[in-house]
Amino acid sequence: MFESLSDRLDSVFKKFKGQGRLDENNIQQGLREVRLALLEADVNFKVVKDFTERVKERCLGQDVQKSLTPGQQVIKIVNDEMTQLLGGETQDVDLRGNPSVFMMVGLQGSGKTTSAAKLALHFRRQRKMKPYLVPADVYRPAAIDQLQTLGRQLDVPVFPSEVGMDPVDICKQGIEAAREAGCNVVLLDTAGRLQIDEKLMDELANIKDACTPNEILFVADAMIGQEAVNVAKSFDEKLDISGVILTKMDGDARGGAALSIKSVTGKSLKFVGMGEKVSDLEVFHPDRIASRILG
Ligand code: GDP
Repeated sequence: MFESLSDRLDSVFKKFKGQGRLDENNIQQGLREVRLALLEADVNFKVVKDFTERVKERCLGQDVQKSLTPGQQVIKIVNDEMTQLLGGETQDVDLRGNPSVFMMVGLQGSGKTTSAAKLALHFRRQRKMKPYLVPADVYRPAAIDQLQTLGRQLDVPVFPSEVGMDPVDICKQGIEAAREAGCNVVLLDTAGRLQIDEKLMDELANIKDACTPNEILFVADAMIGQEAVNVAKSFDEKLDISGVILTKMDGDARGGAALSIKSVTGKSLKFVGMGEKVSDLEVFHPDRIASRILG
């Protein structure tokens, strides 16, 4: 669907005679293609600007490698820089404590409930842990039912939350119930809204204070592109999130949101949602997303 960035860069550099070297002129043209590719992948404008500046500096300071064409050389620099910007290494999660507690936050529809169930399965399969699910979205009865259904499907216990209960109490009691049931990892599924609002943020901050979770994972829908940056920033300012789950990467989204969120909040992506099934969760690998963003 998208023309790959390497093809685009190759055609740019082919236009230049004596294309054996990188100079200010052809770098400028090459960077135009990089900029367009990033904007098409829905990376935030300011992030694109800073990024291309850095790539330009590196390109200018580059000794020409005989084995690479200028296009390949720019691609390599762009890829390296992007992998670095996305966090370089794959980041592990904090599993200290018994139970370890993970809190899912994000807008309604971003994939929190699904991701909570996916993580439960991930921890059981990959870490041999005993998960416990806590539905704390009391505003949408369907959200409680949804997590209960997923729990039954996975054979993972689910706290019997009820509409009308206080979300902070649900989370505290949920963690206690998990401990009593001998479970060692708790996934708290919190409420979301269509937009950020103060009341929701205060409620999340209260849950954080009461439960001191190991990690607060911000769940972002890859399809919302640019808007993800503002949303991530607000959640991070209020809650100091520890990482990000980028969902719906099985769709058309190129994943530019990943780069924007990481650049703006400095918080690492930890998991990627690749479908609606509970097994469709992958640990985040910066180099893979870098290639995807670049097309
Ligand atoms: P919540 O409101 O944040 O709890 O969002 P849900 O977990 O209910 O997810 C909203 C919708 O997105 C549901 O239809 C999910 O099946 C779907 N969904 C969640 N994660 C993914 C994903 O990684 N890929 C796809 N294709 N759909 C997803």
